[in-house]
Amino acid sequence: MAQIINTDGIVLKRTEAGDSGFYLKVLSPVYGTIDVTARGAKKQGAKNSAASQLLACSGMSLSVSKGRYYLESSEIINSFYNVRLDVVKLSLAAYFSQIILTVCTENQSAQDIYRLFTNSLYMLGKDDTDPEFIRFIFEMRIMGDIGFLPRLLGCAECYRTEPLMYFSPKSGIFLCPDHLGDEHGFIGLSASAMEAMRYVCLKDMEHLFSFRLSQKALRTLTQISEKYIILQLDREFDTLSYYKRMLSDMYTVCPPDPSPQ
Ligand SMILES: [Zn+2]
Repeated sequence: MAQIINTDGIVLKRTEAGDSGFYLKVLSPVYGTIDVTARGAKKQGAKNSAASQLLACSGMSLSVSKGRYYLESSEIINSFYNVRLDVVKLSLAAYFSQIILTVCTENQSAQDIYRLFTNSLYMLGKDDTDPEFIRFIFEMRIMGDIGFLPRLLGCAECYRTEPLMYFSPKSGIFLCPDHLGDEHGFIGLSASAMEAMRYVCLKDMEHLFSFRLSQKALRTLTQISEKYIILQLDREFDTLSYYKRMLSDMYTVCPPDPSPQ
């Protein structure tokens, strides 16, 4: 007899499985990223059709047979409908999903990443949320969660925090102006922007989104978090390029400010 397990799960990706079903990539807080077959879910009114939607978050009952997971029944927790309706937000969610599929594996507990992802989608679904603010938090926080925490204490040489600091996305360290010398690849940022990085990396999940940033600081911080994730994971994300294209089509975006923030 097949074993039955119960878990919450959110759909990161789905492809068609024959005429009537879907193959789902699901993030479970307990089991990591797992492949789930949702048989018959494509049929109109099928019991698991809502839970098989992209980004649908459900309580799932799965049967496990020969190392494969099958969706038997489901109860929707949140469909993140507001995110799915908005092409910019949806493309950002696809980028988050691609990052998760890169850094998570099966049978690896993913409690922190699951909470980060579902909380990020919840915040993203609000009308007045700037997607770039959510992107900065997600990119920076997930790197800390998987063990790529930057050295946040201050200048890597003297531990001071000056009004203007420099961060290297390649080495994950800060330098003060005195110790920057002729080092390359450092991005200038204010002490308060540095404090925002520290906050996002270390704050408890409950208060993670409870702060504000100026547009200027946000532009610098997304430049940093994006470079940090690409350089540390040593890969590009096609979903990020797509999201940025959608963002520049939908919103008026100011060009990055070359001066330090
Ligand atoms: Zn220094």
